[in-house]
Amino acid sequence: MKNVLLVISGPSGVGKGTLVKALKARREDVVESVSCTTRLPREGETHGKEYYFLSKEEFLRRIDEQDFLEYDEHFGNYYGTPKSFVKEKLQTHSVILEIDVVGGLNAKKAFPDCLLIMIVPPSVEELKRRLKGRGTESDEAIAGRLSRLEYELSKQDEYDCVIVNDDFDRALNELESVLDTARCK
Ligand code: ADP
Ligand code: 5GP
Repeated sequence: MKNVLLVISGPSGVGKGTLVKALKARREDVVESVSCTTRLPREGETHGKEYYFLSKEEFLRRIDEQDFLEYDEHFGNYYGTPKSFVKEKLQTHSVILEIDVVGGLNAKKAFPDCLLIMIVPPSVEELKRRLKGRGTESDEAIAGRLSRLEYELSKQDEYDCVIVNDDFDRALNELESVLDTARCK
């Protein structure tokens, strides 16, 4: 069986983080990639855990050296997936990238062997309920996140696989079986 690169995308609040955490708890052979960013660490964040925090100069140098599988700019800061980290981890583990649709499609161009998985909600109403229930965002921020929904869902056809996160355990089992099928190919 080989190790694989799984790219997980989907609208904010659909359950990506919860699914990835549960998959990692089940599977010792799976790790999550740590991205690089030029934004400052938030309280409680550590270099090498949530992100590798780089200066803008260092990030630009690494773009020049083609060290990113993909990178993008969000809110005035750069974010990127380090090729070196992913390649090293793939020697011993399957690796998960949790990135947005634009990053996911760029990752596929750079690394065609990766598997693009989109997590979708059973309905827009249920997605709104989860975003509100999580309690981490204001109504305005929720509206901003929902405004990207249509665009993200419109890219489903370009993904290798779409998982509906209706019942959590069912969706987790499906994610695990997608991983196992990809490892056997
Ligand atoms: P994302 O990482 O995609 O933004 P989260 O993993 O933070 O989303 O999940 C958003 C909220 O939805 C969380 O409160 C989580 O517990 C809840 N949630 C996740 N999956 C399900 C599910 N299948 N059914 C009901 N609630 C869920
Ligand atoms: P935050 O600053 O809140 O941690 O993340 C801001 C945004 O950057 C989120 O939408 C997140 O998905 C995105 N992001 C984080 N890491 C990466 C990455 O490696 N590549 C890309 N393209 N986006 C990322």
